[in-house]
Amino acid sequence: MRKKIVAANWKMNKDLAEANEFLSNLMQFVPSTDVEVLLAPSYTNLWHAYETTRDFPVEIIAQNVHEKPSGAYTGEVSASMLKSIGVNRAIIGHSERRQFFNETDEIVAQKVNILLQNDMKLICCIGENLQERNANKHFSVIKNQLKNGLFHLHDSDWSSVVIAYEPVWAIGTGQTATPEQAQEMHAFIRNTISEHYNDSLAAQVSILYGGSVKPQNAETLFTNPDVDGALVGGASLEVNHFIEIIQAL
Ligand code: PEP
Repeated sequence: MRKKIVAANWKMNKDLAEANEFLSNLMQFVPSTDVEVLLAPSYTNLWHAYETTRDFPVEIIAQNVHEKPSGAYTGEVSASMLKSIGVNRAIIGHSERRQFFNETDEIVAQKVNILLQNDMKLICCIGENLQERNANKHFSVIKNQLKNGLFHLHDSDWSSVVIAYEPVWAIGTGQTATPEQAQEMHAFIRNTISEHYNDSLAAQVSILYGGSVKPQNAETLFTNPDVDGALVGGASLEVNHFIEIIQAL
């Protein structure tokens, strides 16, 4: 059975005190849920968040990682640095990284590789923009992102991979994909993985939906058979909203 996951992406939000307040509330809740709860704070809060939650069922993950193992890349953080502080997973290919930091599919593939070389896991974000959806190119965009970013992997690597389908037009806009749009694309993603690999591998891959998920729309999104959870941005900043989303799964 594939895993049910809700992941928080705080982006560039929350200082140490704000992170602490959130974590103390979240820690009271997480022991009572079967859902895998992941939280991606900023780099500056990673170590503290990891230490604070180490006895609780919440996994602290990174929002990004550099694709090179080490070297003269001022301001960047490597996979082995993350691993050394107990962080075993990173988000890669987020649309904000693609849009503002030129993260191409080729770089995403390199990030996949460096994480796997370090025995780490990943959440790989894929998603089409509004222009691509309006031009009816969304399926081919997603297929290419999968092919270029992930389809070089061996079958055994896929146990370390979670996919987040995040239509760019839905991120931070308040305009969520309809449950039908989400299910249609999640089924397409699973089918594309199945065609390239096989049915049983595809059936094991958790595919999260991301894009303006809120307590009000989470439950309907989660009723879809191919939606295995959510990657949550804005609504993950408020602990009660984040908990309500977890409860909806
Ligand atoms: C995200 O950043 O991955 C995201 C889905 O953001 P939001 O929930 O704010 O749309």
